[in-house]
Amino acid sequence: MKPFAFERARDVDHALSLAASSPGARFLAGGTNLLDLMKLEIEQPPRLIDVGRLPLAEISETASGGLRIGALATNTAVASDPRVRRHYPALARAILAGGSVQLRNKASVGGNLMQRTRCPYFMDAAKPCNKRLPGSGCSAMDGLSKSLALFGASEMCVAVSPSDMSVALAAFDAVAETVRADGSVQRRPVETLHRLPGEAPQVDTDLAPDELILAVELPPPPPGRQVWRKVRARASYTGAIASVAVAGDRVALGAVAARPWRARFTEAALADGASPAEAAGAELAHADGTESRKSLVRRLAADAIREAKEGAAS
Ligand SMILES: Cc1cc2nc3c(=O)[nH]c(=O)nc-3n(C[C@H](O)[C@H](O)[C@H](O)COP(=O)(O)OP(=O)(O)OC[C@H]3O[C@@H](n4cnc5c(N)ncnc54)[C@H](O)[C@@H]3O)c2cc1C
Ligand code: SF4
Repeated sequence: MKPFAFERARDVDHALSLAASSPGARFLAGGTNLLDLMKLEIEQPPRLIDVGRLPLAEISETASGGLRIGALATNTAVASDPRVRRHYPALARAILAGGSVQLRNKASVGGNLMQRTRCPYFMDAAKPCNKRLPGSGCSAMDGLSKSLALFGASEMCVAVSPSDMSVALAAFDAVAETVRADGSVQRRPVETLHRLPGEAPQVDTDLAPDELILAVELPPPPPGRQVWRKVRARASYTGAIASVAVAGDRVALGAVAARPWRARFTEAALADGASPAEAAGAELAHADGTESRKSLVRRLAADAIREAKEGAAS
């Protein structure tokens, strides 16, 4: 690991001014993604700004009847919050499907959203990867990965977002609130927090280097049943091959794009009275990728929609 400076932020302003004055610095929350990447020398920030002790872990009700979840709330705290379990069960289930108990106890909401792709070639510093080293090529195009993007990919990168939490958050129309050193506050839909790769896959989001996520806000949940499903290579401690969150009439797909993917064609088809299979097919008709992967996602989405409509046991 390359030497780096470490500074613990006293408060939010201190964190932001450190970030604004230190090119290449990174915020450190739970460290479960960033420190791994530093050990692999995939990330080499000259300075870490520890935000882990800032008072940003509160979960509170909003005036509109939704929830505001502080960026430093741990994954465990969110999944076990009675209000989340009662009103946003698809979010609780999505979180509990991620990592392990130990990881969820450390991992924060902000860090989960900002974690980098787990594309195996991105994680292997010996392999060409446009996201890690722009212009070097994309090893995944002709590689062995099972989790290539079906939507929104480019010839430069076909990696997917590994965040389970963000898939459920996108289905709930959640918004991430950020602040910069100049005091400007922005509210960005979680659905579009991440950029699609285009010509610059090395840039994951539009967040500025001195932009800190403060909280995620959830509007009141839509009426209707919620379902979460995840397909993975083993029962725990591994990322999704594909996932789906259904919240009432909204459907979001996971591990199929560089961002959580709201299945708008599916939602429109459902509004027109399509069956679950037809509605799932309407989204996959716009997908790239292998037939077997498209078929898996189509069946996964159709099953989840059917379960939400029929109220079958999950
Ligand atoms: C073995 C393993 C299995 C996993 N399986 C899953 C899984 O199945 N599903 C899943 O969703 N995740 C999974 N994860 C990922 C895990 O959930 C993430 O590592 C974790 O959520 C990151 O949170 P953190 O607080 O530790 O982030 P950190 O590692 O501290 O930070 C990650 C990134 O976020 C940035 N960041 C952190 N907080 C903020 C903020 N407030 N504002 C702006 N930027 C910020 C950091 O600068 C850094 O770039 C797995 C991880 C491992 C190691
Ligand atoms: S898919 Fe993206 S992250 Fe994976 S090797 Fe290609 S450029 Fe790198």
